[in-house]
Amino acid sequence: MNKAESERLGSLFEQIGYQPSASTEEADLIVLNSCVIRQSAENKVVSKIGALKSLKKNNPCLKIALTGCLVDANIDKLQKRFPIVDYFFAAGEMPPWIDKCLTANIIPLKPTISTFINIIQGCNNFCSYCIVPYRRGREKSRSMDEIVCEARTLVERGAREIVLVGQNVDSYGHDLPDKSDLASLLTEINKIEGLKRLRFLTNHPKDMSDRLIDAIASLDKVCEEINLPVQAGDDQILKAMRRGYTAAHYRELVKRIRAKVPDIAITTDIIVGFPGETEEQFKASVDLLKELRFDNTHIAAYSPRTGTIASREYEDDVPTEVKKERVAIVEKLQGEIAAEINATLLGSSVEVLIEGKKQGKWQGRSRRGKLVFFNDKNDLLGQVVRIKIEKTSPWSLQGILSTDNGC
Ligand code: SAH
Ligand code: SF4
Repeated sequence: MNKAESERLGSLFEQIGYQPSASTEEADLIVLNSCVIRQSAENKVVSKIGALKSLKKNNPCLKIALTGCLVDANIDKLQKRFPIVDYFFAAGEMPPWIDKCLTANIIPLKPTISTFINIIQGCNNFCSYCIVPYRRGREKSRSMDEIVCEARTLVERGAREIVLVGQNVDSYGHDLPDKSDLASLLTEINKIEGLKRLRFLTNHPKDMSDRLIDAIASLDKVCEEINLPVQAGDDQILKAMRRGYTAAHYRELVKRIRAKVPDIAITTDIIVGFPGETEEQFKASVDLLKELRFDNTHIAAYSPRTGTIASREYEDDVPTEVKKERVAIVEKLQGEIAAEINATLLGSSVEVLIEGKKQGKWQGRSRRGKLVFFNDKNDLLGQVVRIKIEKTSPWSLQGILSTDNGC
């Protein structure tokens, strides 16, 4: 979500005459897009602001703006806390000094090959640990026409993959007069000529519909990859997290998805060390990961966030050391699982959309979201090619351009 918003802000600035500077020292304007999902993210932006102090001394013309989820309603308090910041604007909003009429310019002129479109703002779920609904407000879907039009423009301007983003994309459309849903939105975007791939995140296990699973199975551009955060494998913890499903429901959902879309890559999110999490409850998460074998797991140690239900109702009683141990256990397990899954791709040929170059090598993703690297002297940016995989690791694949390039 933050990446999507940063991309849009960057494009807006360029369209009104700003140019990206080579370094922060040369900049006249620095915009910090903050995240406060965990204390570690908040610390990062706070220390960045501190580091900018000396720049402001050297360049009195420098303006600093802060956006993202660190910006709450109490701007006066923020101004006192960060006196060097000139402007504050909330996540997803536009800079206050920019003419509202210009905000139509937020569709990037030169989008990245794989580009984001935000389809729904905010969240109505109030999972007990999560600060997002307090900082991003309630759900608000954008109209389907607006999104399809934006997708068409982005493809005309060079995008080849579109990633639809929202805190819970499964609830897209429930607040619209025509009650459109994610499946119908995917069906419409799938028709855009020149678009190669379509992805979406994040799904909520309590809201993912069979209609959506059917859409993934039937629409040719929709990639076989979904992010389906489980957060915990124990029902009592899931209840305290207010996730609205049980581990059995989640298992059954994964089974249904895999039955309809064979070989689909599923990634998940896990929080370890939620208040009161016992060894046995943690083991339930580990067992679920072992059983369902995800392609990737985003692991987080519970971090109390002021204002959330969990921070008010539960004591953060799992010691930091225990949280660290649990993170390490899950990381090791997931690394082993990902290594095994990726090793099965050795010798096979995968379809890759080329997104750019890294350290001299072409870099792209397979339909199942695997990062693939290979060498070639031709300009292949934005093309879909087949790559024969010669080396695998838990995090990426390496290969050579396949001779049977028919796609
Ligand atoms: N809307 C998505 C994810 C939003 S936040 C969902 O419902 O899953 C992204 C991830 O950050 C979450 O999946 C969760 O694993 C993690 N997270 C959120 N709040 C957290 C907290 N207080 N402590 C630790 N991890 C947290
Ligand atoms: Fe946070 Fe839950 Fe909403 Fe995701 S669904 S953003 S975890 S409140």
